[in-house]
Formats: sequence, structure tokens, C-alpha cells
Amino acid sequence: MRHKIARAARSVARAPDDVTLVAVSKRQSDERVDALIAAGHSVFGENRVQEAQERWTRRREAHGDLELRLVGPLQSNKVKDAVGFFDVIETLDREKLARALADSFEKSVARPRLYVQVNTGEEPQKAGVAPLEADAFIASMRKDFDFEIEGLMCIPPVEEEPALHFALLADIAERNGVAKLSMGMSADFETAVQFGATSVRVGSALFGDRGV
Ligand SMILES: *Cc1c(COP(=O)(O)O)cnc(C)c1O
Repeated sequence: MRHKIARAARSVARAPDDVTLVAVSKRQSDERVDALIAAGHSVFGENRVQEAQERWTRRREAHGDLELRLVGPLQSNKVKDAVGFFDVIETLDREKLARALADSFEKSVARPRLYVQVNTGEEPQKAGVAPLEADAFIASMRKDFDFEIEGLMCIPPVEEEPALHFALLADIAERNGVAKLSMGMSADFETAVQFGATSVRVGSALFGDRGV
């Protein structure tokens, strides 16, 4: 996996170390997850708050250097748990959620880094701000909530050319001065790296097929 990322990075004259591999461990067996930790991997993604807490609370105590990222939708009523648990929340996409995060920050010392999710394909069933609303949303996060936006995240529509979506996300990040791009999954992480991904979220290509 790392060597494929490195090859994709070098093909566009990027440094391989500028790309973080986020191992998406949702619905993977404990054996597979533990094997990856034993091999020295430390950055993992989960898409549900409760499942992540169940799986990672004990591991976090055993391995102090783990970084956990929330890559799935966050409901306002789970914000307190998510803030206390994740190092990074990649799915900030609405004002109501920002308000809940801000409330939680007042009562907690935990400060997860924040990514704004952009619904680049404008799919009704998918979370994320619409591309045309992204500039105003990012500006509001900074001005009205005093949030530092570390990066942008997207999940392209399955049946479309992902490169167009990666290019769109990179463009939105650049014009808003946002440094990081979370894009690319098992099927398209190499393309994402070529379009500037600073982290790729890979599940099945790393662990094997997920359970149901
Ligand atoms: C499950 C998931 C992934 C990983 O998907 P794979 O296709 O298994 O690599 C990446 N990002 C998000 C948001 C996911 O929910």
C-alpha cells in the first residue's frame, strides 16, 4: 500500500511522506486491526462514533501514539462523545453541527482537528456542503466559530470519474487557503494522490473485504 502511494506521489513530483495513509478499520476483524498496529501503523479511520469507542478505547490505552479520525457523518447528539474521542473530525458540513462542536469545545479541553466535507457530486443522499456553498461555509466556520479548518474531505459518486471530483476539491481548498485534502479510497487512492491528496482513506484494499 505505502509503495503504491509513494509511486503515485513520485509520478507527480510529490514527496511520498506528504501523504498520510488513514487505515479505515470499520467492520474489520480485531485480528486484522491488531496486525496492522503491530506492523507499526498508527492512523486509523472509523465512520461511527459508538463503534469506534467500542473498538478503540482499550487499544488507545495500550498504544499512546494512535491517531483516530472520524470519516462518517456526525449527529449533533454524538458530538460530545466524538470531541472527547477523535483526533480529527473530517465531516463538518453544517452550521448546526458547528454550533454543537463550539458548545462542546467550551466544556472540554479536547480539540479535534477539523475538516469540512464537500459533497462534490451534489448527491442528495450524501453528506457535505455543496461546492457552490463551500467558500461561504468555510468563511463562516472561521469567522463565526473561530474554527481552524485543517482540510477538506470528499467522497466522489461511485459511477463518476473521481479525478474531476478530486480536482474540484483541490481547487476549493486552494482558493480558501485550506492546507489538507482527505480524498481517495481503495478504488482511487492513486488518482487522489496525483491530484494532491494529503491523506487517503483506505479500507478494503488494505484489510480485505469488510464484514456486514
Ligand atoms: C468505508 C470508507 C472508506 C474506505 O473505503 P474502501 O473502499 O474500503 O477503501 C473511506 N472513506 C469513508 C468515508 C468510508 O466510509
